[in-house]
Amino acid sequence: MTGRPPVEIDTSRPHPARMYDWYLGGKDNYPVDEAMGRQMLALDPRVPVMAQVNRAFMHRSTRWLAEHGVRQFLDIGTGIPTEPNLHQIAQRVAPDTSVVYCDNDPIVLAHAAALLRGTPEGRTEYLQADVRDPHAVVEGARKILDFDRPVALSLIALLHFVSDEDGAHALVQRLMSELPSGSYLVVTHATADFTPEESKAATEKLKAAGVTLALRSREEFTRFFDGLELVDPGVEVPHHWHPELGDPVPGQDDGVIPGYGAVARKP
Ligand code: SAH
Repeated sequence: MTGRPPVEIDTSRPHPARMYDWYLGGKDNYPVDEAMGRQMLALDPRVPVMAQVNRAFMHRSTRWLAEHGVRQFLDIGTGIPTEPNLHQIAQRVAPDTSVVYCDNDPIVLAHAAALLRGTPEGRTEYLQADVRDPHAVVEGARKILDFDRPVALSLIALLHFVSDEDGAHALVQRLMSELPSGSYLVVTHATADFTPEESKAATEKLKAAGVTLALRSREEFTRFFDGLELVDPGVEVPHHWHPELGDPVPGQDDGVIPGYGAVARKP
């Protein structure tokens, strides 16, 4: 991480990574992010609970994967570091786990040092790249990960920022095609299925501020897993995916979470 030029942060418009940090109670956000965050809360006051439920899904799915023998993770759309980070969860189960983090927002790069403090046996690296440039992601990740051994591709709360015009489904197919049999795909994604009116209003407000929000239906979400074997219980709202592996989030209830989560294995 040494020798990189100083990072330029655009504080004139909201950024998803910084809004998400604000929902989680973090300090790495700016007034413009808080202002948009508050507008989202006005539409649905449960947005911070959604963020925590999403994070809790990441905790449980990562632990599940580590306990099922996965020792390599490629996490795209990592976000601003929030403890515990993915590598901390995985390396607690298996200290020799390697994790490559990737995000396209310079604020994540600015805080990436916190993502690089792993176990001596394992490896962690941060890659500044855009998922819409899969070649750059794969070439960067290959320097750390062995693509002849299974990798968990983790796209947690990322794909609803990638539009159909940018080929979201094809990008996931392309990335999974680089990984060997026994690899996994992990995805959470926001949906308008449960709250169509609030979701429409949120999408419009974000669009006006320059943020793409591509909410997808259950069917569109499920298509990300074409050709893969969904792990039990399949596509679920995130807090129904192996709830026994973690603690419920305070404020969580069944009306709260307009999203889907799933894990699938490449045959
Ligand atoms: N995965 C984390 C953070 C989710 S917030 C978690 O679930 O806790 C979504 C993240 O995706 C942000 O950090 C944002 O900067 C990143 N992101 C959005 N579009 C991206 C793109 N095209 N390429 C890479 N990262 C992207």
